[in-house]
Amino acid sequence: MKDQPLIPISEILTHLGEDRDQYFNAVSPPIIQSSNFAFKDTASFRAAFLNERAHHLYTRGNNPTTEILRKKLAALEKTEDALVFASGAAAMTCAVLSNVNTGDHIICVKNPYSWTNKLVTRVLTRFGITHTFVAGHDIVEIEKAIQPQTKVLILESPNSITFGIQDLSECGRICRANNIISIIDNSYASPLFQNPGDHGIDIIMHTCSKYLNGHSDVVAGALCGSRKMMDQIFGSELMTLGSILSPHDASLIIRGLRTLQIRMKRVNDTAIQIAKFLEAHPKVERVIHPFLPSFPQNQLAQRQMTGAGGLFSFQVKAATKEVVNKFVDRLNCFLLAVSWGGHESLVIPFSIFYDIPGKENPDYPFNLIRLYIGLEDPDYLIADLTQALDKI
Ligand SMILES: *Cc1c(COP(=O)(O)O)cnc(C)c1O
Repeated sequence: MKDQPLIPISEILTHLGEDRDQYFNAVSPPIIQSSNFAFKDTASFRAAFLNERAHHLYTRGNNPTTEILRKKLAALEKTEDALVFASGAAAMTCAVLSNVNTGDHIICVKNPYSWTNKLVTRVLTRFGITHTFVAGHDIVEIEKAIQPQTKVLILESPNSITFGIQDLSECGRICRANNIISIIDNSYASPLFQNPGDHGIDIIMHTCSKYLNGHSDVVAGALCGSRKMMDQIFGSELMTLGSILSPHDASLIIRGLRTLQIRMKRVNDTAIQIAKFLEAHPKVERVIHPFLPSFPQNQLAQRQMTGAGGLFSFQVKAATKEVVNKFVDRLNCFLLAVSWGGHESLVIPFSIFYDIPGKENPDYPFNLIRLYIGLEDPDYLIADLTQALDKI
């Protein structure tokens, strides 16, 4: 169970970081659409140069609208500070780059988010940074992968396709003992259902494109952690790569956050209801959802997370990929699309990644289907799944 948050979630989502008397007591914060900021005198101009982190100098660094979002995200993860980026991928890249040098080694969970995988295997390798992939369910396996030059452990718990989970407290413990920086992609659980900082994880990465914004109209990312670590990333990777969030998009995410708590509860409750419906259906082979008792790591999931959200997978009983495709094509209420975390329900059949010329088939079975359950009525979605399953 996670600790009682220091600040009530309602306070964070509705008020924290908002300084209304600075802007006419407007209830909704303004979008400070300015690239730069002027100073009254040379002394204050000089002071801003000496410590850009603490001043509004130029929007590639700080911006008042973006700052409101940063404060809310840090409070949600119960960390000292947060930084925001133009995408989740940029956030992960900056977190890792900031903590490695040529000759270092990193450990990463197997099959992470695809662009984390490419960061590790295609980008970092060019700079002499080696890696070991680990399955992640066994702490002994992770411990055995540690080398003298290991600097970073990348976790993703749960994974967003297989939902594999790592024991966060154990990972935090071995990282502290070995001077390794631990980074987790916490996008699946959102800060409402899992706070990895409570388990000693150093850097918590989120894509804000999913739950945090929640309306499928922004691409953004965030890092949460100690002030010292955020200072380090701000002063080098964030400012040099310049992959920053615009004040406009920050304002949309602040708006999305207003309803985070009710959206998370809604998708969580509907998804488990639909997962149970599918698990009982004769045309379904298997359902993979961390909060189903049939999930192999269900106990660990219940220990580390207070909810599971709207994302899960299932395998339909089908002899060929054509049968899978036909089933998916018959769905009317699920959009065929990547991503997740918005208002709309989505479906991805892994059959579409099979038999692509020049490419290996994926590690996942052809009858695996990932569903994202949105904010729609559960009965509306179950009726749609029922009609499509009936015709298999
Ligand atoms: C979407 C996603 C990302 C990447 O986020 P972007 O904002 O699209 O760059 C990272 N991790 C997970 C688990 C995701 O689903």
